[in-house]
Amino acid sequence: MSNGSQILVFKDMGLVSQVFDEASLGSLHGHIAVGHARYSTTGSSVWENAQPTFRATVHGSLALGHNGNLVNTAELAAMVAELPGEEHISRSGRTAATNDTDLVTALLAGHPDLSIEETAKVVLPEVKGAFSLVFMDEHTLYAARDPQGIRPLVLGRLERGWVVASETAALDICGASFIREVEPGELIAIDENGMRSSRFAEAKPKGCVFEYVYLARPDTSIAGRNVHLSRVEMGRRLAKEAPVEADLVIATPESGTPAAIGYAEASGIPYGSGLVKNAYVGRTFIQPSQTIRQLGIRLKLNPLREVIAGKRLVVVDDSIVRGNTQRALVKMLREAGAAEVHIRISSPPVKWPCFFGIDFATRAELIANGMTIEEIGRTLGADSLSYISIDGMIEATKQPKDRLCRACFDGEYPMELPDPALLGKLLLEAEIKGGQQQPAVRGKPTSGSDLDGVQSLLGGAGAADALRRP
Ligand code: SF4
Repeated sequence: MSNGSQILVFKDMGLVSQVFDEASLGSLHGHIAVGHARYSTTGSSVWENAQPTFRATVHGSLALGHNGNLVNTAELAAMVAELPGEEHISRSGRTAATNDTDLVTALLAGHPDLSIEETAKVVLPEVKGAFSLVFMDEHTLYAARDPQGIRPLVLGRLERGWVVASETAALDICGASFIREVEPGELIAIDENGMRSSRFAEAKPKGCVFEYVYLARPDTSIAGRNVHLSRVEMGRRLAKEAPVEADLVIATPESGTPAAIGYAEASGIPYGSGLVKNAYVGRTFIQPSQTIRQLGIRLKLNPLREVIAGKRLVVVDDSIVRGNTQRALVKMLREAGAAEVHIRISSPPVKWPCFFGIDFATRAELIANGMTIEEIGRTLGADSLSYISIDGMIEATKQPKDRLCRACFDGEYPMELPDPALLGKLLLEAEIKGGQQQPAVRGKPTSGSDLDGVQSLLGGAGAADALRRP
């Protein structure tokens, strides 16, 4: 938060509601602010990696928040190491933080001869991967989006101000009207003179299709398409592609609900509530540690025996990543008296890791790897299992296929990836432990479906490994 003469950063570990209360919010005064809730991808979950990241510059200060994940972290670390001055360097040879975002902040703050805005135009073309950024100095709010526009970023207007947010739903909540998306490759600056736009790279749109499937809030619109309606349409298409005789359609709450509504509508099978979700437990696969994830599954859902006993059920969910949730769910439903359990998934099998901000972890953990759909269904204990087709999912988003990233489903990555050895989540921690800097080499590029390099990174035992996990 800036009051025009200085920036105050307030950040901590935990949920927003645990970190902020009336008193802490009341202590923040000013007219420019950035905020961030981190979901750890590159860099572990520690305070130093919480955002906004912060740097002093010769012009003042800089605070930055980042949605997404970068793929050339090692290269950026080498660029930071070459910056003049000591303020970018810590005992370990670099800054205390070990995330990709902190490197971008260091680079943006590291050119004393240029303004922040001029520096951004030099630095951002060097940053590869997914980045929707908001950053600020004492006087100006900036926003920038990677050339592929992988993660969403939108611009809104208040009566006396501007808002930039990841999702349109955030604009609704603070009473701002939607103006437009920040375009892929665009840099926006907002200060007392208003808003100005410039371009640091040519737009090559490849929005994340998984935002429509699961990630984004249902009340958000991306590229003009409402997310809830996309999910309902995925359910309708799934019913046509994978029909089954059954008595009741239920959802895995709540992310499977819109698709279940669509499935019921198109199939003519009644829709009902068969599971109650514990509202206090977070989204399961998104929690970084396996231990917590396991607790999450047990705590998350409770079956409504009176509704499901004796029924042939269609259970609709948005995706299967590791399969742990669905396996526990099928068991629970059978114990509660379900006569049959047919699982229908409103996205195709997740077979490839995401390097752009979704912690699917490694290929070894993806259940769809190395097993047929029938085999997966058997391991889940289901009477049948079907997924929507890639084309069915894409058509439901109403976006042209070539403007979407769908790499986790088909392995076609939207950009060249560096050498697999330079892509790990804990890349910077590993370097610090090893006491050495990674070289600035980018390694053999990996693109399109040429994934040999990626496979060596992800190696492991494929789905068999996922099954061994508790
Ligand atoms: S790999 Fe999948 S989750 Fe990651 S950006 Fe692409 S579509 Fe989205």
